[in-house]
Amino acid sequence: MKTIGLIGGMSWESTASYYELLNIGIREALGGFHSAKIIMHSVEFDQIHRLQHQNRWQEAGEILAIHAKKLEMAGADFILICTNTMHKVVPIITKNLNIPILHIAKTTAKALLAQKCKKTILLGTNFTMSEEFNKKIIKSHNIDVITPNEADKKEIDRVIFEELVLGKILDKSKKEYIQIIEKLCKEHKDIDSVILGCTEIGLLLKKDDIKLKIFDTTAIHVEEALKQALS
Ligand code: GLU
Repeated sequence: MKTIGLIGGMSWESTASYYELLNIGIREALGGFHSAKIIMHSVEFDQIHRLQHQNRWQEAGEILAIHAKKLEMAGADFILICTNTMHKVVPIITKNLNIPILHIAKTTAKALLAQKCKKTILLGTNFTMSEEFNKKIIKSHNIDVITPNEADKKEIDRVIFEELVLGKILDKSKKEYIQIIEKLCKEHKDIDSVILGCTEIGLLLKKDDIKLKIFDTTAIHVEEALKQALS
């Protein structure tokens, strides 16, 4: 079995899901006492959050690059960055890295294609919804990406940073997310799916909450990691 490197803590609420799902996956695949081989570096999210919101991405990327290198030196075979947003700095992280990063957006695009999805709603932090770093990867697979209007983006982002990363799962916010999704479905024809493009949204929205296909990036990322770990 390969050793999985995790760069976590962004936030630890979703990193906990990664840790649990990876171990459940290995147990289901191999049975008995089997569990995932994981090396994790969990960052101080306050520092990363500040750098993101001060537009200091280079510094944030350099911090994650150090963690990635340490995971490599400790024996990780490949790395998961347990957040969609910080994939913005993948080029900085990979500069001096000799092991692969399992890219969350590439993995998600593959999952959508496998289900023949062509037009999808992307929810995530404002960075992820407004900027191209992950969107362009999904679009390059011939998938249309729809994002909410500015006011709704602001609300989706607020819920992530004021609630989900702090472990607050509120019914009111779940309803708001569902309303935003339903509104987009009325405004745009032929939407077939929603990407939960922030690793904490899966803590709020579950499969049965909406009629569209849901692509939870945490679950998809874990599933691909399991395949690679067992290959
Ligand atoms: N976990 C989140 C994501 O998937 C947001 C936290 C962050 O800003 O990294 O984008």
